[in-house]
Amino acid sequence: MVRLAVTGAAGRMGREVLAAAADHEDVDVAFAVNRSPVEDTISGVAVKSATDFDSLLADHKPAVVVDFTGPESAANYATVCAQHGVGFVTGTTGFDEADFAALEAASDSTAVLKASNFSRGVAALRLAVREATAALPAADIELTETHHNAKRDAPSGTAKTLLEDIEDVREDLTERVHGREGEAPRSTDEIGVHARRAGDVAGEHEVLLGGSNETLSLTHRAGDRSIFADGALDAAVWLAGREAGWYDFFEVIEG
Ligand code: NAD
Repeated sequence: MVRLAVTGAAGRMGREVLAAAADHEDVDVAFAVNRSPVEDTISGVAVKSATDFDSLLADHKPAVVVDFTGPESAANYATVCAQHGVGFVTGTTGFDEADFAALEAASDSTAVLKASNFSRGVAALRLAVREATAALPAADIELTETHHNAKRDAPSGTAKTLLEDIEDVREDLTERVHGREGEAPRSTDEIGVHARRAGDVAGEHEVLLGGSNETLSLTHRAGDRSIFADGALDAAVWLAGREAGWYDFFEVIEG
């Protein structure tokens, strides 16, 4: 049984993580916090105030913290987890350089696993995109992501990961063009990036590769957020007890 703590517990993802944990036979939630505490329990877990995180961590000694909050909060939690030698799994996106550096620094002292997307389907999409990009070296590439209307960061963390995958294979694509307006002819060194926000869409990503007389479209659609929660819990179980270092979700999938 892996003892977990959950941060951002009252958020869209935090609630999913607590619901998934209740059904997961290998995990046990030691405590959960949110910036603003909630009165009722969520999936049977009392959600405490985030200001008590340090003392809760010291008292309950979970093996891993699962975090879906915001970039600054995630960086701070990673630092505290490193001080206590507690593993840290985060799905939070939108890190700036300083917050990302704090996350990386934490991995010197504890096991840190960050994934912009905990869906196995998106992991498969990443592999397919790399293959297709290599197989169509002259294609124009456009990436479109769609998310719910409360998403803060744009483009999504998953979109940025896909862009890095594409740029890794196609070194000639040096320009990310975010949307187009007015006189905007396409150049051969650009990747078009489009972020749509509407309703309660859990997450869609499409990579379009356009050549002469043919186009290839690779699309992933998240049906609901439970897939991300399941992946994050798999990652937490996998990470428990590992030595300090930086890990990624492909390592979890490979087992
Ligand atoms: P949300 O706004 O619904 O939830 C965030 C929660 O964190 C809120 O309840 C907020 O009060 C709480 N919070 C903020 N700062 C906190 C702090 N310091 N301590 C404790 N709680 C704090 O957002 P969401 O839709 O759940 O997404 C959260 C993050 O996860 C975003 O960065 C999002 O992009 C990312 N995300 C990642 C994946 C993935 O698979 N990796 C999937 C979905 C969302």
